[in-house]
Amino acid sequence: MGKEVGSCQLGKMYSTGKVRKHREWRGVKDTFYDYVRWLGILGILGKFMLHPNNVKGFFRYRWMVNYLAAPMMIDRLTEGFRGPQLRIAHMQFDLIVKEMALSIQDLFRADRRIGNDKKLSDRCVLFDENEMTAIMMGFPTLKGISREIPTLYTANLLNQHSAEHYIDVAQEFGLPGDICPMPEAECGFSIDDDYCVLGKCAVQCNTTCDGSLLGNGVIAKRLEQEDGIPIFQLATPMRHREDDVQDYAAQEIRNAIKFIEDQTGAQWDWDYYFECAKRVNYATQCRLEWLDINKTDYPQMPGMLLTLYNETNYLGVCGKTPIFETIDRKISKMVEDAYKNKTMVAKEYRHRAVVWGVQSQYFFEMLNWMTNCWGILPLTDMLSMVNDKMIADTDTPENRKQAIYDMAWLTENMIMRNRTHGGYRVLLDELWEFCQQFNADVVILWEHMGCKALTGLHGQFEEQARRLGIHLIWVTHDLCDPRIMSRQGIRDQINRYMRTVFREEPLDPSLEYLQDEVSW
Ligand code: SF4
Repeated sequence: MGKEVGSCQLGKMYSTGKVRKHREWRGVKDTFYDYVRWLGILGILGKFMLHPNNVKGFFRYRWMVNYLAAPMMIDRLTEGFRGPQLRIAHMQFDLIVKEMALSIQDLFRADRRIGNDKKLSDRCVLFDENEMTAIMMGFPTLKGISREIPTLYTANLLNQHSAEHYIDVAQEFGLPGDICPMPEAECGFSIDDDYCVLGKCAVQCNTTCDGSLLGNGVIAKRLEQEDGIPIFQLATPMRHREDDVQDYAAQEIRNAIKFIEDQTGAQWDWDYYFECAKRVNYATQCRLEWLDINKTDYPQMPGMLLTLYNETNYLGVCGKTPIFETIDRKISKMVEDAYKNKTMVAKEYRHRAVVWGVQSQYFFEMLNWMTNCWGILPLTDMLSMVNDKMIADTDTPENRKQAIYDMAWLTENMIMRNRTHGGYRVLLDELWEFCQQFNADVVILWEHMGCKALTGLHGQFEEQARRLGIHLIWVTHDLCDPRIMSRQGIRDQINRYMRTVFREEPLDPSLEYLQDEVSW
């Protein structure tokens, strides 16, 4: 138990119940810092519940109860961190929690059943989960809002069991059980009438596979026919790296913008667009710098520090929230300093890993666990390998034309979609290039049967990894449903490989087996 990274037996903190036996001891300075920031999260929750709309929403919507686990989630996501990584994590998660609280507050205020603020509702455009919000970069007076993020995405990070009820609802309604549990649960929310009802219009995207087509269809019917909210279907090309689809992709963007203008009466604003574009470029530049540092012998932004923050910043924020630029700047400074100081994020690095596939939402902290338990450092992951080029960010006639193509490019390259759509080059071939760049000897490959694009290439992943001498560790899971594969079931797949193939002993044996089936 102590101040040095890797000096705690982290598994000893676990109880068999919902919460841990005690907080992590990180030495006086880091424990004090961590505790104050943890209290800050409680403060955000307390402040949130002072608002009458939020109290009403809390009792109306079943998924809201998961938010009681927010302080516990922060503990899980910061497990094992010390020094700069602990501070970066708190900076990121505090911001995400604050932004989430504001977003839920807006949802409830505009919700016809709760606050019924029609003026606000008429300024809201609904977006799918995982949908790139680049087309909102030109609408300063409107709010792009995703109902799925607080109800499913974040709720499942907070409480591993949060999606089960909604998956069951969807299947009781006759939906197939072999599709991805993410769109399936999202559909279950709609069937169960457990989404807030708001918005002037909505934009759905062919984001994610057969499951998303299925879910979007059911959700669209309810939105259009029962709630009277018109929807634009943004059909982004599948072969998104091919030149011949780019004009079509750009036209879809023009059509979506026109739809929003027609529905809301708002006008596209180029000044605001280019202001946001500058921030998008800054975020891209920072992410690329962090990745470059992760390629060295002293990575400073591994695992969750990279992926969770990037998902929020890249997709939902997309240049529209200035505070993210301030945090990006602070993180970059800390990362550079930590790199100069050769800061270690685990007591020993045994393997350098690229994490591929779509990770389990209910066991997101697996990325920390594998570092702490086995010394496997996750240097990057599939969801973080998104846009890597600068978009036009100054207002000229040529750039106004280019901007449409840039928004199309960002939308084509939204998280998850840019790899699971687009064929074997983006999903399979580029993985090995990343392994080389990051000097990785291990690939952790998340797999669940609902993700057909990825499972379809199973044999080819194996064949090529064998040829290249890269250790491929398959980790089967069920994305949002721990009843199919528990957290320990996930850990066991890594444990088995480490013991039988690598013949290694864990760095922290207390983490190898944990009884966390009922914990948040
Ligand atoms: S995990 Fe796979 S199946 Fe699920 S939404 Fe993402 S790409 Fe689609």
